Amino acid sequence: MAIMRTILLKGAENQWLHQRASHYRFVRRAVRRFMPGERLEDAIEAAQLLRDRGLNTIFTRLGENLTERSQATAVVEHYVEVLQRITALSLPTVISIKLTQLGLDLDREFCFQNLCRLVEAAPQGDIVWIDMESSPYVDVTLELYRRARAKYENVGVCLQAYLYRTAKDLESLLPLGPGIRLVKGAYKEPPEIAFPQKSDVDENYFKLASTMLSESAQKQGMRAVIGTHDPKLIHRLQAVATQNGVRKDSFEFHMLYGIQRALQLRLAADGWRAGVLISYGKDWFPWYMRRLAERPANLFFVLRNIIG
Ligand SMILES: Cc1cc2nc3c(=O)[nH]c(=O)nc-3n(C[C@H](O)[C@H](O)[C@H](O)COP(=O)(O)OP(=O)(O)OC[C@H]3O[C@@H](n4cnc5c(N)ncnc54)[C@H](O)[C@@H]3O)c2cc1C
Repeated sequence: MAIMRTILLKGAENQWLHQRASHYRFVRRAVRRFMPGERLEDAIEAAQLLRDRGLNTIFTRLGENLTERSQATAVVEHYVEVLQRITALSLPTVISIKLTQLGLDLDREFCFQNLCRLVEAAPQGDIVWIDMESSPYVDVTLELYRRARAKYENVGVCLQAYLYRTAKDLESLLPLGPGIRLVKGAYKEPPEIAFPQKSDVDENYFKLASTMLSESAQKQGMRAVIGTHDPKLIHRLQAVATQNGVRKDSFEFHMLYGIQRALQLRLAADGWRAGVLISYGKDWFPWYMRRLAERPANLFFVLRNIIG
């Protein structure tokens, strides 16, 4: 299983595979399980259906590590339009962006200004989420997050439970009253910096999320998002929240489109706040490979689409 994960995550970075796989119809069909379509309109339609079932949504346009300033500017303009569409349609939707989509690899200051533009364009109070990318980006992502949080309330960042450093990062962010979306982590990281065993990642996730749901973190203004599809963890964390007197509507569960759909609906039906992250866009290859790596059994769906 670990070998398969490594192969798939290596594949995610392979340009040759990227260019070829994206053209095959059977791959495109398999991808549909995790994204309603490539167009913004597809994401909007899906968000309307989910809203009718009590679920919030988070939009993210796929694409990362852009190499031209003009590409990053186009991404910002796209998201500004998305925020206007969301407002016009009164959708319970926010956005989640990657800093490398906003030009982080080109110019840190340019990237920060792009981030500020999006946070300012968000309807009042609506949070803009910053994804966490692979480990070389963690320091700079947290640095830009701190700067943004000093200016705005409505900005949040993702932290990854597989990194040893995350406990310290979380502790140092608490006084800011941060928005934090905790996930397990989706990249290939060496054992020197990340727990190699899944059971250790799960336990670290529980510890970190329990801190986010503690009375003191809540008092400091923490906006907690539990970003996982793991039913056992969700169950344990619901118990922690109840025990700490954290109200059901003061934190959220987020999952990815197409994964654990029944659980998403059950959470909403039981009165918990739940959101579904919807990805769209043409540049889905590395993102899709990470979804396969999370659960190599997903390769079965690709094979089924080859057969027809
Ligand atoms: C809202 C959200 C935002 C995210 N943002 C980031 C980010 O910014 N940076 C980052 O590194 N990672 C991000 N991730 C991905 C995350 O790091 C994990 O890789 C992913 O969520 C799988 O871990 P899990 O917590 O669901 O637990 P797991 O233990 O991997 O899965 C628990 C159960 O969920 C189901 N499941 C999980 N993944 C899949 C899948 N791909 N296909 C089918 N079933 C599946 C299975 O039933 C599995 O048993 C995000 C995840 C979510 C939900």
